[in-house]
Amino acid sequence: MSRVYNFSAGPSMLPVEVLERAQKEMLDCNGSGQSVMEMSHRSKEYQAIIDKTEATLREVLNIPDNYKVLFLQGGASTQFAMVPLNLGNKNKKADYVITGQWAKKAYAEGGRYLEATAIASSADKTFSYLPKVDKSMLTPDADFVHICYNNTIYGTHYNTMPDFGDAVVVADMSSCILSEEVDISKFGIIYAGAQKNMGPAGVTVVIIREDLIGDAMDITPTMLNYETHSENGSMFNTPPTYGIYIVGLVCEWIKEMGGIKIMHEKNVEKAKILYDFLDNSKMFKGTVVPEDRSLMNVPFVTDSEDLNAKFIAEAKAKGFINLKGHRSVGGMRASIYNAMPKEGVEKLVAFMTEFEANN
Ligand SMILES: *Cc1c(COP(=O)(O)O)cnc(C)c1O
Repeated sequence: MSRVYNFSAGPSMLPVEVLERAQKEMLDCNGSGQSVMEMSHRSKEYQAIIDKTEATLREVLNIPDNYKVLFLQGGASTQFAMVPLNLGNKNKKADYVITGQWAKKAYAEGGRYLEATAIASSADKTFSYLPKVDKSMLTPDADFVHICYNNTIYGTHYNTMPDFGDAVVVADMSSCILSEEVDISKFGIIYAGAQKNMGPAGVTVVIIREDLIGDAMDITPTMLNYETHSENGSMFNTPPTYGIYIVGLVCEWIKEMGGIKIMHEKNVEKAKILYDFLDNSKMFKGTVVPEDRSLMNVPFVTDSEDLNAKFIAEAKAKGFINLKGHRSVGGMRASIYNAMPKEGVEKLVAFMTEFEANN
């Protein structure tokens, strides 16, 4: 068996230890004589699994007691609608910071249900930086302000949290959740599709402050009302059972290595290897201003499209796959989530050094 180094933005690598454990438990999980996939979601065996996933996630992320954890479906994209439908009933106004494609999509979807205001944007420089934002820029009676905490496509990340005062802050953390410590109490809602850094596609985790539940707009479909899922322990209907189980194993894996602080230190160390190389290379360069760089998604370019294409093809042949940048940016992007071993980044940099010398 040979495994590739997969630099995909998502779905992406999962820790080998997690995959091996899932393999071991595939036919008989916890002595139940069944695969998790075959269990009734109403069984006590499955209840124990979802409870453990939630408990471990709460522990590794240090989620305060006044926050609910929901396991939903529909991807982060469904949250673009759920957030305004559930939080925008008071004044039907919300602010958005436009820092890339996902933020733009959230803003557009918000505009279908309320008066959405783009308070700042970094579109002028292809989203290569985060615009400075603070509470003075907010619409006074907006119901919430939405930010994309880590911009997967452009490789920017809020390395310091903006000061939004008492505003309800909603953050899309799809591509950075579990990569670093976060003060959850600064947010009203944090949401994330699992397929970047938490598990397989199909589960979306929503962490929501309790007092924000229960005032959805009348038009809100039952399935898009946070209250529906909160009242039913994420079991109003059949939840994505297997995905939730894997999210639990991923959280246990983080816990076993020493927790999120250690995970973050590893991520800093890993990203530094790549950024240091980019900062010193004459051929490759990073596209993001240093202060807003992401630890998870690292876009870079050469000054020639042909060279980019040659690099991507040769890298693939060596087992470094999915290095092509997003279709809207071009160039390259290395997504180095939690599950990417340090060795994968070191070998990529060694290959880039060799490529630069040969070209
Ligand atoms: C991938 C991604 C999305 C979209 O996620 P889906 O689960 O495919 O809907 C939204 N926001 C961010 C930041 C992402 O990285």
